[in-house]
Amino acid sequence: MTDTLYEPAAALAVVQTRIRKACAAAGRPASDVTLTAVSKQQPWDRVAAVLDAGQRIFGENRVQEATERWAQRRQGLELRLIGPLQTNKAKEAVALFDVIETVDRPKLARVLAEEMDKAGKTLRLYIQVNTGEEPQKAGIAPQEADAFLVRCREAYGLTISGLMCIPPVEDAPAPHFALTAKIANRNGLKLLSMGMSADFAVAIQFGATHVRVGSAIFGTR
Ligand SMILES: *Cc1c(COP(=O)(O)O)cnc(C)c1O
Repeated sequence: MTDTLYEPAAALAVVQTRIRKACAAAGRPASDVTLTAVSKQQPWDRVAAVLDAGQRIFGENRVQEATERWAQRRQGLELRLIGPLQTNKAKEAVALFDVIETVDRPKLARVLAEEMDKAGKTLRLYIQVNTGEEPQKAGIAPQEADAFLVRCREAYGLTISGLMCIPPVEDAPAPHFALTAKIANRNGLKLLSMGMSADFAVAIQFGATHVRVGSAIFGTR
């Protein structure tokens, strides 16, 4: 398939239908699940097509790339940071994003609290859990998640809205989604960002409230 023939708006509609079907199969209302369109590294014409089709929630994994792309056309959109965040980019991230899904260490939590305070802005925050305990991957270890959550609340005064996970590519995703849901449940967290192009239907079965879909909408990066 050549670039000019790829139709992101049609692919978006297919993904939306699959989300609705997965909700129905899981006995959940379609309104339970929100689609984040992951626009990282995608050419602007594809992103524009998806915007024209009405999509307003976008996920990006790099602060600088996201700022360059979105800062001047920010209005009416929800922007979600889904990639690891360095503390020296926290200020810029707070300025641009509505949601940061990748809070995963005390220093980052502290700096985000400071930057939100300075900016007079409250972002929705998720803790990323490294369910596969992969050394190269960001996220707090599952067995440290409860204590980290308490620390975010008590030491830094943060409200944590939910959890996010990225299962290891070589694993069946279901146990990772189940573990993330279990940690969220026992901590009273309502939001779960899990599921990507290959596995969002499974994630919905396990309680995802936000799915992050890139290539199934925009084509391969
Ligand atoms: C890139 C990315 C996605 C989207 O992945 P696809 O397989 O293209 O849907 C979702 N979540 C995170 C954290 C990502 O970095």
